[in-house]
Amino acid sequence: MRSYNAESYSMRHAYAAQLHLPGPLFRDLVIWALQSLPDEILVGLDVNADRKNIEEVEYAFEGQECVSNLFGGQGYVVKEAHVVNRGDSYSVHHLPEEWTDDLFSGQRGSRAGRFTHWLHTHPNAPAIPSGADTDAAQETTGVDMILGLRFSPEGPLPWFDDVDGTRRSLGTDHAVKAKRSWFSQKQLPILGFAPTGHAIHDIQLIAFHKSGLGVNVLLIDESGYPYGWDDLIQGSS
Ligand SMILES: [Zn+2]
Repeated sequence: MRSYNAESYSMRHAYAAQLHLPGPLFRDLVIWALQSLPDEILVGLDVNADRKNIEEVEYAFEGQECVSNLFGGQGYVVKEAHVVNRGDSYSVHHLPEEWTDDLFSGQRGSRAGRFTHWLHTHPNAPAIPSGADTDAAQETTGVDMILGLRFSPEGPLPWFDDVDGTRRSLGTDHAVKAKRSWFSQKQLPILGFAPTGHAIHDIQLIAFHKSGLGVNVLLIDESGYPYGWDDLIQGSS
């Protein structure tokens, strides 16, 4: 999370806005994603209306072309997350009935419902939005997040890498490098193992607004400051 935040800081001018996501909540998201492999999951997230982003942090991470009032819930810390669906890349975006608000479902489309932000996973694909993701995001009031996971054995979903876009990985610099082998051409780093037994090679996270603008995610601790904050501030002053 520290290295991810350091990258969020150095890339801050590439983003129009920022989203503060608590680290323990992010850890839950990764665990749910891994437990569901090889399926995708769709997660709805709400903000805490009583907990604003820390101003000093917002200011430090503000880009040159930041947009205020870009999305719903902007400026507020994400509070909770719920898995609302699980399935393949097509079915996961169609909500089960219990999550659909009957009154407005006609107008609000397949993601009709109650959450500010949405996150879905990309098992064995980079965290870069597809055309269908961009379409689904049009009904999001907040931001859409994608959690990309690279794992092995790959099963029916080999790593699909042929996508253009900005990649944002977590912690690959801390990963234990696999021992060199005479039998393997490429050695992927191993971050850890999923409850399903899969080896995890890469975790990627991005957020975007329906307009196509990128949103910078900061992983924050209980105090509201991003992991590695002291190093960032010392390093830049
Ligand atoms: Zn997607």
